Amino acid sequence: MITDQFGRTHNYLRISLTDNCNLRCFYCMPEENYDFTPHSKLMQPDEIDTIAKIFVEHGVTKIRLTGGEPFVRKDASKIIRNLGKLPVQLMCTTNGIRIDDMLSEIIQSDFQSINISLDTLQKEKFLKITRRDYFDRVFRNIHLLLQHNIKTKINVVAMKDINDDEISDFIAFTKVHPVEVRFIEFMPFSGNRWSSNQVMTQKDILNIIREKYDFNPLPVGFHDTAKPYSIDGHKGSFSIISTMSEPFCSGCNRIRLTADGKLKNCLFSKKETDLLTPLRNGEDILPIIESAIWSKAKTQGGQLNEQFEKINTSIIQNRSMINIGG
Ligand code: SAM
Ligand code: SF4
Repeated sequence: MITDQFGRTHNYLRISLTDNCNLRCFYCMPEENYDFTPHSKLMQPDEIDTIAKIFVEHGVTKIRLTGGEPFVRKDASKIIRNLGKLPVQLMCTTNGIRIDDMLSEIIQSDFQSINISLDTLQKEKFLKITRRDYFDRVFRNIHLLLQHNIKTKINVVAMKDINDDEISDFIAFTKVHPVEVRFIEFMPFSGNRWSSNQVMTQKDILNIIREKYDFNPLPVGFHDTAKPYSIDGHKGSFSIISTMSEPFCSGCNRIRLTADGKLKNCLFSKKETDLLTPLRNGEDILPIIESAIWSKAKTQGGQLNEQFEKINTSIIQNRSMINIGG
């Protein structure tokens, strides 16, 4: 098992397939013009396969594909087919636009679950948040997954004055649809115009839901980032990812691999460890992986040690979310 200096074992690998995307969500991308990484600098399908196998041989049992938008990569099918052969739970986080094109791959590769990001149930607001007009297609694709009985979760970044007025609408959605709606606290990254005033905390979210619904907490697994709740009579459920107001670093089992082959031992770490160059040079990358994970900081990359209201975004050194792989 790959372990850090605090005894945390790491069995969950999140692989970013690309930093390219067909949406432009303001909270994820820098405001200025963003140059996507050219294809030649990305890990190629055989390289992803080789690196993933090394992780699997050393205890990784879950792999999540993410990005950028993983399904904009032209060779995504090939990558998925390769990873689908490994003895892991395969999962994906996607904006949902290309689910229809990828459905047969999703079914054949036996994805454990698909997380679709959808921050609003309103078409016009979707356009404002994402700067692209794809609401209808994403909404149709959520139903397509449900028709095929594929476990579906909806990721909602909860932000004040953006979509806090829709929290109850999302809960109403879970009454009739068997989905887990996951409210994510808004996080700061390079250039994403984060402000602590816009964070809807776990407490804020629960207070809004409480006005209309009685809910019951469900058991939380040691490694889980989302705290789940059920509501009697609802086909679905909801959960909250309280990264800012109540971080969950003590049970962290996650390793991130950026699309250009850099290992990040934490979402918020500024340090990155290049795996792709040594792999291309024929070096053994296992010791490099082990040392990078060993040095993982106790909490939030050693960078966000304050209460979130006091975070000074100007001193955060990190990539943007689209470039890390969420
Ligand atoms: N393109 C895919 C998608 O949108 O699902 C995968 C990549 S995206 C970076 C992964 C997740 O990160 C999405 O659920 C997105 O909403 C979330 N995310 C991006 N920026 C965020 C931020 N600043 N705070 C909280 N969550 C964020
Ligand atoms: Fe693209 Fe996902 Fe980031 Fe939106 S959240 S810009 S869909 S990578």
